[in-house]
Amino acid sequence: KAKENGRNDYHLYSEDIDQQAYHRLTLQHELMKALQNGEFLLHYQPQYDLATGRIVGTEALVRWLHPTRGLVPPGEFIPAAEDSGLIVPLGDWVLEEACRQNKEWQDAGAAPIPVSVNLSVRQFSQRNLIGKIGRVLKATGLDPKCLKLEITESVTMDVERATLFLEQLAELGVGISIDDFGTGYSSFHYLRNFPIGSLKIDRSFVRDIEQDPNDAAIVAAIIAMAHNLRLQVIAEGVETLEQVRFLRSHGCDEMQGYYGSPPLPKAGIESLLFEATSFSC
Ligand code: C2E
Ligand code: MG
Ligand code: MG
Ligand code: MG
Repeated sequence: KAKENGRNDYHLYSEDIDQQAYHRLTLQHELMKALQNGEFLLHYQPQYDLATGRIVGTEALVRWLHPTRGLVPPGEFIPAAEDSGLIVPLGDWVLEEACRQNKEWQDAGAAPIPVSVNLSVRQFSQRNLIGKIGRVLKATGLDPKCLKLEITESVTMDVERATLFLEQLAELGVGISIDDFGTGYSSFHYLRNFPIGSLKIDRSFVRDIEQDPNDAAIVAAIIAMAHNLRLQVIAEGVETLEQVRFLRSHGCDEMQGYYGSPPLPKAGIESLLFEATSFSC
């Protein structure tokens, strides 16, 4: 029909936008119902000490168990959850569930290692976030040292407020990591002003470490810089033994990636955690 009136491009374009908007709204509505119905769950990916090979942490990664579509990865619903504000209640659930689960593992005899939880910028700008985190720690009984929050570098962040927030977090005793380091906008600003504990090198730099001398140089430089700033470094997306060797030879502290293990459902991560010997956060 659009063709007949000779303005086909415009019509097709606007129909496409309507379609997208409609899809978004439907998704947002579905997400709200999913939260009420308890359709979200966490998978956990182990983080390994590169020197000893032991598991020294886990990262909680949310999934949506959709009644008909099956397990939906976060890339397909986190953006819509951020747009609609639903990331706030969803993020609250993730935080509480990750803390509760970590404490339960420790009570059952697993080594006390930290769980990392991703925070979106939208959550980060809630006024009551510090109070909320404090309450979750208290309610679950988790040692604050056993919780780390991962934040990404973002243009939209109000640096003064973020600094204040991170200082309060550090006072609580919770760890702070910069996620996807190197892909954001204000890396050096963060490093200079924020009381962070670790950097996670984005997997886009790790992927071609053996073939691309520029990537190798960047990764080596990030590790050296982090250590000079007395920060821990963890490499993301490590998939091969060659990458492990490179990272180890450059003194990288930890790694996370398919080479060690993909993110695992509860039973899978438990079998790893309960066979590990004990060490502390
Ligand atoms: P992220 O925090 O950087 O998490 C790492 C992502 O890399 C995970 O994808 C993980 O499955 C994937 N990954 C790990 N090792 C490898 C590897 O060796 N190779 C490759 N190709 N990929 C690997 P996932 O679980 O799909 O999560 C994607 C992103 O969604 C996360 O990136 C994070 O930004 C976001 N996300 C996940 N859970 C939450 C959450 O609870 N809250 C918020 N705000 N964001 C979340
Ligand atoms: Mg992360
Ligand atoms: Mg990351
Ligand atoms: Mg990422």
